[in-house]
Amino acid sequence: MRGSIRLFVSVPLAPGEAPLLDSAQAHYLGAVMRRRTGDEVVLFNGSDGEFLARIDAVSARGGRLAVGRQLRPQSAEPGPWLAFALIKRAAAEFLVQKATELGAERLLPFRADRSVGVLPNPMRLAAIATEAAEQSERMTRPEIAPPAALADLLAAWPADRPLFAAIERRAAPLLRPCGRQAGLLVGPEGGFTDRELDLLARSPFVRAVSLGPRILRAETAAIAGLALLAAPSGEAAV
Ligand code: SAM
Repeated sequence: MRGSIRLFVSVPLAPGEAPLLDSAQAHYLGAVMRRRTGDEVVLFNGSDGEFLARIDAVSARGGRLAVGRQLRPQSAEPGPWLAFALIKRAAAEFLVQKATELGAERLLPFRADRSVGVLPNPMRLAAIATEAAEQSERMTRPEIAPPAALADLLAAWPADRPLFAAIERRAAPLLRPCGRQAGLLVGPEGGFTDRELDLLARSPFVRAVSLGPRILRAETAAIAGLALLAAPSGEAAV
């Protein structure tokens, strides 16, 4: 159903189910998109697949849908993991939206020595990721981990998943496509400290990479790096 409105719902989906719309979804459908009773929407919940549904009722306060046939079965969406240093709120929100569109499977914020951002509101980040998953026709939403210290993030990192650390002003190789089972690590606006660079150098799964000769904002670096990592997956071919 190309071009249809897609909504994420957090209830089981199957033909005959009648999920309720919360007030935000009802406002979006009714007031913003001007959809009425009987109009079709597409639903997914990240576990049962994607379904066609009809609007049974919609008002300013809420609404109800009637689930019809399945459009796509659920599929796994393995993708790159993105570890990013806490940055200012607007930049972090932009990063979460774009990383979701680019297929990131897990988002792992970490506290860097030079982080200036406040802890992001997890509900708001989840809502941004949900909207981006709806818009980009994903079948899943990325998992967003709570912020961790860099040392803890590295200690928990699976040893068989390469982690490409974007480090500017280094004679590091340019980041190249690597398939989906990899991670990208991007530092804060002030860059990594020597202590953090030592920590990264001592982690056997970390590989320092460059994103080119220009110094990118942290969120730009994350987007550019994810685009490079995801390039060979064939996701762009339709
Ligand atoms: N303040 C640092 C400086 O002037 O050298 C720049 C930090 S940059 C704004 C923020 C983060 O983006 C860096 O920690 C790094 O992870 C990433 N980054 C930006 N440009 C990069 C490049 N050309 N190659 C690799 N990483 C880069």
